[in-house]
Amino acid sequence: MTAQVIDGKAFAAGLRSRVATVVSGLMASHGLQPGLAVVLVGSDPASEIYVRSKAKQTVEAGMASFEHRLPETTTQEELLALVHQLNNDPKVHGILVQLPLPRQISEEAVINAIDPEKDVDGFHVINAGRLATGQAAMVPCTPLGCLMLLKDTLGDLSGKTAVVIGRSNIVGKPMAQLLLGESCTVTIAHSRTKDLPSVVRQADIVVAAVGRPNMVKGDWIKPGAAVIDVGINRIPAPEKGEGATRVVGDVDYAEVAEVAGAVTPVPGGVGPMTIACLLRNATVAACRQAGLPDPEGL
Ligand code: NDP
Repeated sequence: MTAQVIDGKAFAAGLRSRVATVVSGLMASHGLQPGLAVVLVGSDPASEIYVRSKAKQTVEAGMASFEHRLPETTTQEELLALVHQLNNDPKVHGILVQLPLPRQISEEAVINAIDPEKDVDGFHVINAGRLATGQAAMVPCTPLGCLMLLKDTLGDLSGKTAVVIGRSNIVGKPMAQLLLGESCTVTIAHSRTKDLPSVVRQADIVVAAVGRPNMVKGDWIKPGAAVIDVGINRIPAPEKGEGATRVVGDVDYAEVAEVAGAVTPVPGGVGPMTIACLLRNATVAACRQAGLPDPEGL
């Protein structure tokens, strides 16, 4: 079998374009321009790239982008003061504090200081609780993107067996909640799981969010399963020259593509969905804050 390649890049472009259409409609009908504030503390090179990319795509969607760059030495009190200011700014409908934060700042304290209605990353404990209890939540962008790709590929997910590998608060746990919400039978695997290959082999849907290059092998996969690879791992690529690197996922793509029914590539699978879902969440947040219904088609 050769798996269908799930084209996250194309799906994300479509979602961004639907967001842009909704944004221009909101501006025309209600004079409402969704605004997204991104806060970067320090100068981590990977975070710099994400923040630049987020700001560019926010503007391209017709939304207002507010960038706040603070030095590495920023104190927790200073960052909390900025978060409070953004919470009270009516032009800002979504707030994203780029992680990781410098050591002197508690990520938990900062995330939980964000107004839950503006928490477009969906990391606030209130949004985690809403998701877990089936209430309207801000859903973390990466798992939301994975779910969109799965529904687009498989249609109704009800009754399917799903294994999520990884139990982080930002990917694994919310992913499992979303799949449960779609009436899948869900197993969450992690570093203490015994005989991971045989656990994964039960699954119609596999989501790998581990951070270990090429870990999931072809013989772990039930023939025809849908495999979503969240992993972003940089490995040496001597074929590209000395010191060069390339990005691979948590899934051994070449092996798994021979067995699975559908699989996301890395890059070009889940990655592009994350920012597209961020724009989607900021637009939904703007509607909710204005007392409007959630926009259709997002
Ligand atoms: P974390 O490091 O927070 O979590 C990794 C999880 O994998 C943990 O639950 C850990 O288990 C589990 N794990 C580690 N080793 C094994 C193993 N050998 N077998 C089974 N489970 C294992 O990572 P994140 O959830 O933040 O990210 C996961 C991956 O997804 C990373 O590669 C990250 O770069 C990528 N990512 C990609 C995004 C995108 O936009 N595409 C966005 C966010 C993340 P335990 O809890 O027991 O330690």
